[in-house]
Amino acid sequence: MSLVEAALYLHVPFCLKKCPYCDFYSIPHVPSTLDEKAYLKALKAEVSQLKPFLFSLLDPDHLRFTTFYVGGGTPSLLSPGFYQSVFELLASVFNFSPEELTLEANPDTLTPDKLKGFLQAGFNRLSLGVQSLTAKGLKTLQRTHDLKTTLKALETASSLFKNLSLDFIFGWRHQGEKTLKKEIETALSFSPTHLSFYELTIEKNRPFSGFSPKKPVEKLYLVIEETLKTRGFLRYEISNYAKPGFECQHNLFYWEVKPYLGLGPSAVSRVSNLRWQNPADLKAYAENLLIKGKLPLKIIERLDNLEFAKEYLFMGLRLQKGIDLKRLKNEFGYTLKEDLLKNLSKKGLIEKRDHSLTLTFKGKLLHNQVVKLLWKALLKT
Ligand code: SF4
Repeated sequence: MSLVEAALYLHVPFCLKKCPYCDFYSIPHVPSTLDEKAYLKALKAEVSQLKPFLFSLLDPDHLRFTTFYVGGGTPSLLSPGFYQSVFELLASVFNFSPEELTLEANPDTLTPDKLKGFLQAGFNRLSLGVQSLTAKGLKTLQRTHDLKTTLKALETASSLFKNLSLDFIFGWRHQGEKTLKKEIETALSFSPTHLSFYELTIEKNRPFSGFSPKKPVEKLYLVIEETLKTRGFLRYEISNYAKPGFECQHNLFYWEVKPYLGLGPSAVSRVSNLRWQNPADLKAYAENLLIKGKLPLKIIERLDNLEFAKEYLFMGLRLQKGIDLKRLKNEFGYTLKEDLLKNLSKKGLIEKRDHSLTLTFKGKLLHNQVVKLLWKALLKT
């Protein structure tokens, strides 16, 4: 049996404080050494119980983890020593030989020694959540780090990590094209290899509702795409820009609908046709594993070919390279109605070339709506 490549994710459920716009699971708590030990114990129980569970889907020894990503929460709140233990644990249980090992970090949880420790533990990619490079932006987004701390963390991170990714939130009140461009230029002076720009979600009755951005958001997308293009970055995914060869290999597993395993509270996994999720509750997660002696996971769905086809359209069309219509047909057994494709193409939303289907700049702005139309145009072969 040949090896199946997969991505491995670990969720860290702690943050300094909860940001008002964030939907990721975390508790506002600075973890102590005791908390690290307790979390490691629960993780050990999880991985050892996962192996027999995975046997129902495939031989876990044939699963090779080629990427490892620690997200959260705020993974940089934990110590390098914690991650050393995690690496030892994973290598003792799984076929764990990742080429890309990413740690998410927040500026105000870093010191030069801690960063060096993360590098020595084995991480070769750092994803720094700067979110804004203006004092006003950081204040508006209610971040815990100020501009001075952010710039200092950036300087140290860029001197240590060759593969450095920076996360931004854009579309906040007062941020015009000029401010955004200046933020990008400042970011580029630290030689990142990858940048992510997430649009601030402004929904009714949600934090920041009423904080409409100064400019129509498409103008801000244009500023990002064009400024970065002139500096050698390709918008390879709707929210992600990379120098060639520095695309996030881990996230490509999700976008390309390939298998992934998630560890820790709230983590989602999809192996073969099964998708499951751990509870978004640290206490319930640990109690299930350590007291009840069972995996805390809940099966979300057993995907059939139609669901795979829909996921492939949803995720694949986030990518610049789009989807491969041959894969849609051969792997999932579906094609798309030609008349709808022609119609969307006429409207300037999609581009079809040979077997590839991609979204245009305009199409990317309407990604969800276009995908919903395509879902309705799926035909079983
Ligand atoms: S620090 Fe990050 S993960 Fe934590 S609450 Fe804020 S946005 Fe969410």
